[in-house]
Amino acid sequence: MPVLSLLGRAVYGTAKLLRLAFRPVRRSVRLFWHLLRYEPPGELQHCPACGGAVRHLAPLGSNRRTWTYGFISGCVRCGILFANPLPSSEELEATYSADGRWGRHRQDEQEKQVSRRRLEALFAPVAAELDVLHPPAGATVLDIGCGLGGMLDALAAQGWTTYGIDPATKVAFARHRELQSIPAEPRFDLAVLHHVLEHVTDPLAILRSLGSAVRQGGFLLISVPNLDDVAEHGELKYCIRSEVHVLAYSTAALTWLAAEAGFRVVHSGRGPGNPRQRVVLARREDGLLTRPTAALASARAALASYEAAHPDAVAGPRHLPVRMRAAYLDLEHSEWRLTRNASEPPSSRAR
Ligand SMILES: [Zn+2]
Repeated sequence: MPVLSLLGRAVYGTAKLLRLAFRPVRRSVRLFWHLLRYEPPGELQHCPACGGAVRHLAPLGSNRRTWTYGFISGCVRCGILFANPLPSSEELEATYSADGRWGRHRQDEQEKQVSRRRLEALFAPVAAELDVLHPPAGATVLDIGCGLGGMLDALAAQGWTTYGIDPATKVAFARHRELQSIPAEPRFDLAVLHHVLEHVTDPLAILRSLGSAVRQGGFLLISVPNLDDVAEHGELKYCIRSEVHVLAYSTAALTWLAAEAGFRVVHSGRGPGNPRQRVVLARREDGLLTRPTAALASARAALASYEAAHPDAVAGPRHLPVRMRAAYLDLEHSEWRLTRNASEPPSSRAR
């Protein structure tokens, strides 16, 4: 009997020793597995605009103020590119409120005047249908995100009746009519989305609302950072990786989204005198509008030519390092939070 007992103890002891010896190995394997399959909180598997399937196309530079390390992702359906993960609604709210970073920046901005000549150049491609300098009596325009009202000033000077929406600044509304939301009935001859769509996470919802607010045959002017020519102007960060430009659009993607909202794109080109800007003009039309079938292809092509022209700027689609970096940042962030919470007095922790 004592022999059996001794044997039992020996087996038990060896097993325990082995377990102890393998603990660091098991830990490392677990950590490695965590890094391998990590997804940052809020990483989207579906397009924020149309709900289509998503492909990760390139790493997104880290920005710890607004989002964790992630991807530039693209939608195979509508063709938009977006920062993945997107900033949360709280982060967007904090950025765009009147005292948020973007809001403050807008209060301090100098008024940018839009000259008559620039106005004419912007609408030149549809001049045969829309004489922006001589609008018919009572013609109305709605500028979403009108800012200090430079565009509305220029249009008002030509005889347009002007309306604007802007949550970040009220400066323009001393001279133009303010709306709180996009009206549901077709009362506008022209709508303007001047550098708005790259800031929002629900572009299709805005375009659909405008589809209701613009009358049949009316026009929509969209300007966004020029993704199609990113290889040429060389500023990918301006197109998508900056803190506030969270969505990027090729002409194909804008055509897809506009068609979905009842607008036919009739012109897409560079902004007058500004290769970093893309200006798209679309006409409000009834009926089924054709949409590009491979909308993501042109955004992919734009990214590929950018990488070819600037090989050091983008490291290419390397999934694992992106995942690992994101996991590491998240780990570091939660440890920092734990330490901070522990050092705070109980009263402030209870709030
Ligand atoms: Zn989509």
